[in-house]
Amino acid sequence: MSSPVFTHQKNANGGFDSLCASCLEIAASAPREEQLSTSELMHACDPIRLYQISQGWIRTCHIAPLEFFSIKQKAEPIGPRPIASRS
Ligand SMILES: [Zn+2]
Repeated sequence: MSSPVFTHQKNANGGFDSLCASCLEIAASAPREEQLSTSELMHACDPIRLYQISQGWIRTCHIAPLEFFSIKQKAEPIGPRPIASRS
């Protein structure tokens, strides 16, 4: 079995994700790119997931533009709601 290949990409938190090209899982996340290698060495692809990918049951959803992950949610202000006036 060949060793997996990893792709590094910036994540929404400003750090880096290491994406396994074989199983399409994020193998590691770290604030700095050079910190990813230790976790990459520990990564083992899930054979069930590899089978599912080979069958086309899992799509390459992780390989998406960065904008996909950085959708900002509008925060609702927390506080007392105005009481509706009765007329
Ligand atoms: Zn993998």
